[in-house]
Amino acid sequence: MSRKPRVRTKTYTLKDTETAPSRPWTDLIGFEGVDETLYRLWHENRLPQVVVIEGRSGIGKRKFMAKLAARFFCETHTACGNCDACQSVEQGYQNDLFWLETEGSIKVAEAEGLQDFLGYQASKSPRLAMIIDIESMNDQASNRLLKLLEEPPPAVLIFASCSRFEKLLPTIRSRSVRWRVHPPLIEQSMAFIKGQLADPCPDLEIENTLKMFGLSIGRSLAHLEQGSPEQKAKLDRLQKLLLLPMKGDHLKELQDLLKEQAWKAPDLAQFFEVALNQSYRRILQSSRSTSLADFRRIKHWRKILQQVYQAGAVGQNNLNVQLVAEALLSPFEG
Ligand SMILES: [Zn+2]
Repeated sequence: MSRKPRVRTKTYTLKDTETAPSRPWTDLIGFEGVDETLYRLWHENRLPQVVVIEGRSGIGKRKFMAKLAARFFCETHTACGNCDACQSVEQGYQNDLFWLETEGSIKVAEAEGLQDFLGYQASKSPRLAMIIDIESMNDQASNRLLKLLEEPPPAVLIFASCSRFEKLLPTIRSRSVRWRVHPPLIEQSMAFIKGQLADPCPDLEIENTLKMFGLSIGRSLAHLEQGSPEQKAKLDRLQKLLLLPMKGDHLKELQDLLKEQAWKAPDLAQFFEVALNQSYRRILQSSRSTSLADFRRIKHWRKILQQVYQAGAVGQNNLNVQLVAEALLSPFEG
C-alpha cells in the first residue's frame, strides 16, 4: 500500500460532492479492553476470521466497531485517534477497510461490493470488513455472503455487529463466532447522558430511563431529548400502573395503554422488569412483614414477564396485546 499523504481532512476515495463519513470513537464509553483483546487474539493467531459482535441496540457498537478497526490500522495499534491511519478509519479513506453500513436493509448490491473488496489481493494484513447491523441484511444478501463467510480469503477479517444473534440465519450463525459485549456501567452512562443533554435532568429520571431501555445510552438519550411530554407521561403512567394492585379500573387502563402504545415486546419486558425490581425494593424496605399477597403478586408478574420475553424471543417484535391481557387477567396463583 502506498503511503498516505499526511492530510487530515481530505478523503481521496470520495467524490467532492459526497460527504466524508465520520466514525469517531473518542467519546466511546464502556467496552474497556474489548478491542485490545480481539486485536491480541488476532496477533496470536487465535481469532477466527468471522466474528459477530453482539450487544443490545444503542450501547455504542458502531463507535466500538470504528475503534476496533482503528486498533488494527493505527500506527501504534492503540486506536490513538491522532495518527494518519486512525484518521483514515475515522474519515473513511482507509483502503484496507470495507465499512458496510446502510440505512434500511443491506441488499445484494452491497453484499456484492463486499465480495469485490474481499476478492482483490491484499498487500497488507489484515484487511478488515466491518458489517454494521448484520441483521438488517436481507436474505438474498445473506445468501450472497455465505460462501465468503465459509471460506474467507486469507488475511481478511470480517466483523459484524448485531443486537440479536439468534435472529441471524442459521447458516450465518454456524459460520461465525459470537462475541458478546455489554453496556457500560450505569454510573458511566448517566454521567455521559448528563453531559449530552441541553437541559438539566434529575439523576433519578436519567437512571430510570436507562433502566427502562435496557441500559441503552442511544435510546435513552433519544427518549430524554426527543420524547414528547405525552410519551413520557405515558411511560410514567405505565410504570405506576404496574405497581398498583391489578384489578378493575387499573387493569382496564393498563390494557388500553398497551393497545394504544403498541410497545415492542423487548421494550415492554424491560419496563416490566424495572417495575418488578421496584416492587421488590419497596417490599423489602417497608417495615411491615411481607404478606402472602405480595409474594403472589410478584409471582404473577414473573409469569407475565416470562411470557413477554418469550414473545420477544420467538421474534414477535410487535407485542401480542391479547397474550399480555390474558396473563394480566389470569388469577393470582397461590
Ligand atoms: Zn492511531
